[in-house]
Amino acid sequence: MTREEILNKKSKYVFPCVTTYYSDPLIADRAQGHYLWDLEGRRYLDFFGGILTVSVGHCHPKVTGAVQAQAGRLPHSSTVYATEAVVALAEKLAEITPGRIQKSFFTNSGTEANEAAILIARMATGSYDVVSLRHAYSGHSQLAKSVTALSNWRKAGVISVGISHAISPYCYRCPLKLTYPTCGVACAEDVEDTIRTTTSGAIAAFIAEPIQGAGGFITPPKEYFKMVFTIVKKYGGLFISDEVQTGFARTGKRWFGIEHWEVEPDIITCAKGMANGSPVGATLATPEVADSYKGLTISTFGGNPVTAVAARATIEVIEEEKLLENVERVGAYFRRKLEALQAKYPLIGDVRGLGLMQGLELVKNPKTKEPAPAETNQFMDRCRSNGLLIGKGGLFGNVIRISPPLTVGEAQIDDAIERMDKSLGEMAG
Ligand code: PMP
Repeated sequence: MTREEILNKKSKYVFPCVTTYYSDPLIADRAQGHYLWDLEGRRYLDFFGGILTVSVGHCHPKVTGAVQAQAGRLPHSSTVYATEAVVALAEKLAEITPGRIQKSFFTNSGTEANEAAILIARMATGSYDVVSLRHAYSGHSQLAKSVTALSNWRKAGVISVGISHAISPYCYRCPLKLTYPTCGVACAEDVEDTIRTTTSGAIAAFIAEPIQGAGGFITPPKEYFKMVFTIVKKYGGLFISDEVQTGFARTGKRWFGIEHWEVEPDIITCAKGMANGSPVGATLATPEVADSYKGLTISTFGGNPVTAVAARATIEVIEEEKLLENVERVGAYFRRKLEALQAKYPLIGDVRGLGLMQGLELVKNPKTKEPAPAETNQFMDRCRSNGLLIGKGGLFGNVIRISPPLTVGEAQIDDAIERMDKSLGEMAG
């Protein structure tokens, strides 16, 4: 098909709510390693990885090989038969998850992983109320949208029954107008206030992303989650860490983002980077939480042998290629370079994130911090013209999200920084 045919068919046959980046949409054609090619054959350095999903590079031979072999052997069996592929993945997950988390429930997406987590937390505790955070993104189902706290993702008929939203630890735009560290991380206390005033006083769970993804890579002060954990336990809740974006080495050094904040969650939810692009989601829980599920459940495609081998191969690549260490080292290098760009361009109000999950909040003026969404789009367009793909997010659409494959080295970082510098220079000029 030609570019025009693809775009015409998209507008005729695909829901328009599923939007694409760029005023002049990019048609993705093929990809390899750190690069993606469009239909016209232009090559881009891919620093968004299909939204933090291509963790070990496009078409990594080990992952692709495992998928091809399994697709030719047993592509599907449903969960009514056990398979080696699925139990081997579950065992591997138990090995890398923090604390006492040991059992997996497999689905196809982050949305379903969060749905299952909340459902099981309600069963395990006998409570109904759930506390989430403002600026959260949780998925596209009714429940996940009601956990979400970004207005653009909550239009039309989304009501939060049994879900309350505490303020976000968003230091750059502190909702309490305080400054870290003299604030004493006062935002954490809002979780207790929220429980006392908007719930029955006993909660099923607190659910949060260790770094808020779609919210704009909002990174909490290091004490925040520890303080919240104590509150959550005081009111009988389970702690759910939504690791859909932060999981599987994305933040460097540790497998899961929550480990940086020294909290042992009761439940972890994951998807995206877990299988390098194969559609798998998982709800991971401690044995007693997993065993408290009442009645039956099933996900026909959840626990699919093909996606299971893709996930296990991805985890093995992260181990074999020492990517936990690579992300920590290269992420720190990237951060220093981004901070140097910030010093050069006042458009960059804030640089934040961990590992290879780095965000730039763009503002019209660093003093007033007025969001710059138009400039954010312009920057994305320029970077694209200069051969670099990046993402965006944030309540005001003014946060650049950067998440290259975990396999990048300093050379790719230098290349990306050069392209960003050139793009910002063109905008200033
Ligand atoms: N949780 C988080 C933190 C996410 O970023 C997303 C997706 N952006 C989801 C859940 C939902 O995942 P999915 O799109 O796979 O349903």
